Amino acid sequence: MKYERQQLFIAGKRHSTSETFLSVDPSCNKPLAEICKADKPAVHAAVEAGKRAFPSWSATPPISRSRILLRAVALLRQRNDDLARIETHDTGKPFSETSTVDIATGADVLEYYANLIASGGLNGETTHLRPDAWVYTTKAPLGVCAGIGAWNYPIQIALWKSAPCLAAGNCMVYKPSEFTPLHALQLAELYAEAGLPPGVFNVVQGAGDVGALLTSHPGIAKVSFTGQVSTGSKVASAAAAGMKYVTMELGGKSPCLILPDADLDSAVDGAMMANFFSTGQVCTNGTRVFVPESMLPAFETRLLAKMRHIRAGDLMDPATNFGPLVSRVHRDKVLAYIRHGLETDGATLLSGGPSPPPPTPGVNPAGFWVRPTIFTNCTDGMRIVREEIFGPVMCLLPYSTTTTRTTTSYLDALIARANDTSMGLAAGVFTKDLDLAHKVVARLEAGITWVNTWGESPAEMAVGGWKMSGLGVENGRRGLEGWVRNKSTLVEMGGSVGTVFAKL
Ligand code: NAD
Repeated sequence: MKYERQQLFIAGKRHSTSETFLSVDPSCNKPLAEICKADKPAVHAAVEAGKRAFPSWSATPPISRSRILLRAVALLRQRNDDLARIETHDTGKPFSETSTVDIATGADVLEYYANLIASGGLNGETTHLRPDAWVYTTKAPLGVCAGIGAWNYPIQIALWKSAPCLAAGNCMVYKPSEFTPLHALQLAELYAEAGLPPGVFNVVQGAGDVGALLTSHPGIAKVSFTGQVSTGSKVASAAAAGMKYVTMELGGKSPCLILPDADLDSAVDGAMMANFFSTGQVCTNGTRVFVPESMLPAFETRLLAKMRHIRAGDLMDPATNFGPLVSRVHRDKVLAYIRHGLETDGATLLSGGPSPPPPTPGVNPAGFWVRPTIFTNCTDGMRIVREEIFGPVMCLLPYSTTTTRTTTSYLDALIARANDTSMGLAAGVFTKDLDLAHKVVARLEAGITWVNTWGESPAEMAVGGWKMSGLGVENGRRGLEGWVRNKSTLVEMGGSVGTVFAKL
């Protein structure tokens, strides 16, 4: 095995359990490490450790919490490449990506919240109600919170959850996806090295059953979940039974609108980033690419030319920008969608398809590699257009730019099609007409939108889904609000209590 046995992390110490599972390298289907699976007593011990740490951590002045978190930021940046190598082994993402995105965007968010709390981000409001009365509000942390992660951005998700959680004075029990467990112990020990007291950040490992133990544990005040819509519904229902706070960061089927005046090259670049970055395993992917009928031939030609720049290969080679899918089960799911697109939906295959990728230096055929795939002339009812595939599969949807009798303009019809989904995570528009861009964005039913770009998600930008894509946001100033509860206090200074019972 490439890595030592991965233990849990509870109350500042490694914690062993007897049952284990394996983490597998997706690039070659070889085991990477044995992982201790949390049993019920271990989950309970992690929550109890959080409860013991909470009084002192929540009472630590924000500026002191901030200093500890900033030390963790420095350590993350110092160890960027080591952590990125682990993420590459665990997820199958090229090192060119993990070393520039995964740890960096996680550290940025930790830095953002550390600075925010040090500069008054947890202050409340004061309202002068009348000359002799005022109202003030204070923010209090929630308690011990659960963070449950997906496998596509493991350490980034762990940081996007733990950063505002810990900054606000909460403690966390974090469970990574069972497919990508390797970052968790590293992060827990890095936090400890930065000075985080024992019990403030705990790690349990395992699959959905361990997640469910956490969600239903009475000692958990909040569940912050990232994953599929179907799992999110279950987790939110379980949390609702205990009246727990939730943040739900779920899946999408986001529309990417290419307007007729768009710059062709930028639009094609945007569509490619929105479908093939991270081998298509990005929640905000713009998988429904709407292209004007008149532009479609040129769009396809440009797209096919640029597909040559997708390079599968040795994941540590800086030139490699396309890796395998994360697991065998996920590879099989993505291939089933591609076959469905061809055989049942009757979509036109422009590139890729379900057959194994051609022999390529650095690509081990035992890994979970697939071809980047484009379907064209898709229609809205196709299953590949309606359901989240979460792989490198782009659907081109042509639209007419002539006004019909039933619509006031082609834009109304286009926007109605873009919004015709139960999900609402992201959306984007490509056009040179910025007035029009803002008008279109205002009508798109999605929590994250882009104009003439796709995918950037900086620490300052609050992100979260509409409709079935989620509840609440992560990042930005608003991201802190999900980790506190507010108290309002009315103070009367007039010297007497307003009462209806004072006189006979
Ligand atoms: P998943 O729903 O299968 O699993 C997510 C996590 O939930 C895992 O840790 C899993 O062990 C746990 N889990 C499973 N059943 C559970 C239960 N009953 N109770 C508690 N926890 C349970 O998702 P996945 O396949 O790991 O991740 C891919 C999905 O995540 C995609 O749909 C993607 O769009 C979404 N995602 C969303 C965002 C976002 O910010 N909106 C970001 C990344 C990924």
